[in-house]
Amino acid sequence: MEGNLTFLGTGTSMGVPTLGCACAVCTSTDSHDKRLRPAAMVRWIAPKSGSERVVVIDTGPDFREQMLRSGARRVDAVFYTHSHADHIMGLDDLRPLSFAAAREGGPIPLYATAETRATLERIFEYTFSPDATYPNRARVELKPLEAVTAVYEAEFTAIPLKHGNLDIVGYRFGRTAYLTDVSDIPEKSFALLEGLDHLVLSALRYKPHPSHATVEQALNWARRIGARNTWLTHIAHELGHEATNRSLPEGVALAYDGLNVGVTL
Ligand SMILES: [Zn+2]
Ligand SMILES: [Zn+2]
Ligand SMILES: [Zn+2]
Repeated sequence: MEGNLTFLGTGTSMGVPTLGCACAVCTSTDSHDKRLRPAAMVRWIAPKSGSERVVVIDTGPDFREQMLRSGARRVDAVFYTHSHADHIMGLDDLRPLSFAAAREGGPIPLYATAETRATLERIFEYTFSPDATYPNRARVELKPLEAVTAVYEAEFTAIPLKHGNLDIVGYRFGRTAYLTDVSDIPEKSFALLEGLDHLVLSALRYKPHPSHATVEQALNWARRIGARNTWLTHIAHELGHEATNRSLPEGVALAYDGLNVGVTL
């Protein structure tokens, strides 16, 4: 089945421009150098029901703005990669969408690892506590992440990754994989990444970082995985869009906010 992947945000945790910074990338007039916090959207028409389905990977602090830009008017499920602020702090903005979802059938399912679920329950206690009384809380439901999760006739496979000393997940859907905040890919995860049309990999900057891959590390994985196209995301202000893209090998490019690619699910 055919679908679309939209890069809702391609910036690192601080976003680009970065507050307080006047570097060449932060002051660039190229719209590709403006990066909201990292998130992605996958859309497809589910063949049996004929209805459009929208899945979001992470709801960071820019989620509301990203939804408005995308033009999407619904979210059918969220898959979380991990519980850092730049990936979760927009959860509350699911509220209006969740009211509509609840009227249609039920709460929006949020798939996440046990560790991420525990953090979401703590931070958004007024949403998830069984004693919550806040009447306008999001109609959302935390769901355990299986090795493969089926949603609306598509399948999302969790890809175990390392992010510094944290165990996090990326996702494969059809012939596309979205792996953000990676500092290492465990050997057995490579078997889950064969035969890809599109590989999304985080690449922070050139200088090493304890919990994020550099451009060079990402390029090494990209070569090994051998996807037809590799897109780099979670990009810091050290990397200008145009200059960096000129230096990247064929088949690899920096993604940018709003980039849409057709995907096979
Ligand atoms: Zn991040
Ligand atoms: Zn800067
Ligand atoms: Zn992170």
